[in-house]
Amino acid sequence: MISIDFSWFALLYVGAGSALIFGLWIFYENRDKRVYQAARERVTFHCIKCGELYTDSRQKEVSPCPQCGFENARLKF
Ligand SMILES: [Zn+2]
Repeated sequence: MISIDFSWFALLYVGAGSALIFGLWIFYENRDKRVYQAARERVTFHCIKCGELYTDSRQKEVSPCPQCGFENARLKF
C-alpha cells in the first residue's frame, strides 16, 4: 500500500475538492450561456396600429404584432 503523510493527503483532498467545484462552475456557466442566452436577449416592440407592447428576439429588426399582425420596427433609445 502507498503511504503518504497526512499533510499530503489533506493537500490532495482539498485540491481535488477545489478542482471539482471549479469544474462544475465552468460547466454550468457555459451551459447557462448556451441554453438561456438566446431567450434572454430580447428587444421590445411597440405596435403603432393597436398599441400592444411585446418582445421578440434580438436578431430581428422588424417583428409582427401578436394581436393584429402589423409589422413593427424595433424600439431604439
Ligand atoms: Zn398590433
